[in-house]
Amino acid sequence: MGKSENISALNANTDLSDCHPSHQILFEPVQIGPVVAPNRFYQVPHASGMTEANPRVRAAFRETKAEGGWGVVSTGAVSIHPSSDDSPLPFARLWNEADIASHALSTEAIHRHGSLAAVELWHGGAAVMNRTSRLPPLSPSGISWAATHVGFMGQLRPKKMTGADIDEVLHWQRLATRRALDAGFDILYVYAGMGYLGYEFLLPEYNHRDDGYGGALENRVRFVREMLEVTRDEAGNRAAVALRISLEELRGKASDHYESEAHGVVSLLSDVPDLWDVKMDSSPTDCGASRFRPEGAHEPIINFVKRVTDRPVVGVGRFTSPDTMVSQIRRGVLDLIGGARASIADPFLPSKVRCGNSDDIRECIGCNICIASWHDGVPVRCTQNATAGEEWRRGWHPERFRRVKTSTSVLVVGGGPAGLEAALTAARQGCDVTVAEQTDDWGGRVLQESQLPGMATWRRVRDYRVWALSQMGNVSMYTNSELDAESALSFGADHIAIATGARWTKRLYSALEIPSEPLERAEVYTPEDVFAGHVAGDRVLVFDYDNYYLGGVIAEHLATKGKHISYATPAGHASAWTFMTNELPFVYQALARRNVAIHTTTNLIAFDGQCAALQNLFNATPMEIAVDAIVIVGHREPRDTLFQALQHEGDETHRTAVQLLGDALAPGAIVHAVHSGHSFARGLVDDTAIYLRDEPVVPAEPLAAFPKQ
Ligand code: ADP
Ligand code: SF4
Repeated sequence: MGKSENISALNANTDLSDCHPSHQILFEPVQIGPVVAPNRFYQVPHASGMTEANPRVRAAFRETKAEGGWGVVSTGAVSIHPSSDDSPLPFARLWNEADIASHALSTEAIHRHGSLAAVELWHGGAAVMNRTSRLPPLSPSGISWAATHVGFMGQLRPKKMTGADIDEVLHWQRLATRRALDAGFDILYVYAGMGYLGYEFLLPEYNHRDDGYGGALENRVRFVREMLEVTRDEAGNRAAVALRISLEELRGKASDHYESEAHGVVSLLSDVPDLWDVKMDSSPTDCGASRFRPEGAHEPIINFVKRVTDRPVVGVGRFTSPDTMVSQIRRGVLDLIGGARASIADPFLPSKVRCGNSDDIRECIGCNICIASWHDGVPVRCTQNATAGEEWRRGWHPERFRRVKTSTSVLVVGGGPAGLEAALTAARQGCDVTVAEQTDDWGGRVLQESQLPGMATWRRVRDYRVWALSQMGNVSMYTNSELDAESALSFGADHIAIATGARWTKRLYSALEIPSEPLERAEVYTPEDVFAGHVAGDRVLVFDYDNYYLGGVIAEHLATKGKHISYATPAGHASAWTFMTNELPFVYQALARRNVAIHTTTNLIAFDGQCAALQNLFNATPMEIAVDAIVIVGHREPRDTLFQALQHEGDETHRTAVQLLGDALAPGAIVHAVHSGHSFARGLVDDTAIYLRDEPVVPAEPLAAFPKQ
């Protein structure tokens, strides 16, 4: 099917009769150069951890978004040449003809639903280390990104590009454009953001050149202009050309001729691309966690672009509210609503708005576990959407559920993330579901943690599921209902899911980096004591070897209560794993604002009720801090006594039908609990123990990575 036929097919299907009148503007088509986006929902390029190694996983992930109504669906970074090699971090490539077929799987899947397919052609410049290709990284002036995080450090500094090098990169962009067209893409990107090559030419910190590509702003934009021109020249009218650009640093730079250098760059290139895709400069600010960045946080940086160019503008901001989206358009900030995380958490967000079903949007919580997947080098995982990345290999669809063939009853014990997700998914599959929760409200740990500083948005994990369960006719929900084995068995359910969570312990931490014996004293507390408001004393030490967000958040929380807080961790940073979720710099800012004293690579050895004995993890240098209390955020143990009791009390039938879920099975982050709950429920219909293994699409004969020129 041709492109225009696809678009008209989707437009023909676009029935707006159920759409709220004020939201209908979101479904207007937008002309982007020679192509037309069928609506304003634009899934911007985002890291998905899906490379040429898993082309089917990738195609199905993107197809689901097109099916859910995103008018444009983009790839993540697609390298144009082996000199842009980000390994071991995941990236895709169009290095030669061998790479076309795997991308064609994605474009065909996207086109099936009438959406446009965009490709983020990318050269990483000095920001990549070329660990596999072993080519010297390229840069305008030999200046590298000197990262502070080990995972981003490399010891190979970039070479200074000669004029011939610049011509070569332009030629590689042309060749990649040709291949992208062959793969079926409709929108082709030039990337000048996030520290990559185009951005390095724009920024005077990287660009010290004294030739026609350096110095005055007019010269610094030249490389980006030529990349756009070569892409346009090769694409002709077959595809649109988009410029993705970071404007945060440039907007802060004064200019003699323009309001800022950002205004200058957009003015100088105003009508060169068909589309402006505007963003921030670094992952922590561009993809900010909700703990520190609200919805629409980019607006103060990018709000001028539409005043300077007539070309359509797309931007992001963790938009999940259709009212906010409409406001962005009506106020002239954006033409297209960019979504990365919003589209991962709910691929069907556009269709839900179109059907007047906005209450059913599974809103992103801004936890950035999806980003952590990229840092981990694995396909995307999402806290809110357990099906993300599982569309092809497990056959999980976010909105369609296979129904149980015979009447099936399920009792879920525990109303935290795992229990709620299990109950909702089982109910959607047609089971008769009962959920029992011992406390007086739903949400488990999410309910407690979302009351801490910056964590309110995480409550959406609970709120979405409680709302969705309330819409189902086949669900009974009971709070204030602590079940023991006898009462659980009395329901006579076919399946009992035990989602009773985990409890924090007071275990210390050994020099072998293993949780050790508990520090049992009245003045030693756990996070549960913090939630219950039990922590006494003015001077408190938070000892954190959990290393994710909770230790830092608790330090912040107790400091807001007027206590003097010290924070110690055996790790190299406070809340060290929050580097993976883009939160780390802001954790430090938050703790500094609260005057929290931070001690890293520091172990807690003993506490006599007045003085905490600490020790450097590596050289055993001792230190003492006078404190009244200690909160240990370290090791968790499953709360599985009900499960154990059922093993003893149940008959043979019940023994096989009782399953542990979530933290009660294996304590983890909320994303793990939700996945566990979902997997349990899908397992009532399918064998979820098995998933398909993706393979690269390989040509009959291996092709050289370097194209002949
Ligand atoms: P998960 O992240 O695995 O969902 P949580 O700790 O968030 O775990 O939630 C577990 C929930 O189970 C809590 O809300 C807790 O009150 C509830 N719960 C624990 N034991 C029982 C029980 N015996 N009967 C009913 N609810 C229980
Ligand atoms: Fe949003 Fe978290 Fe899902 Fe990422 S993992 S899309 S931040 S809910």
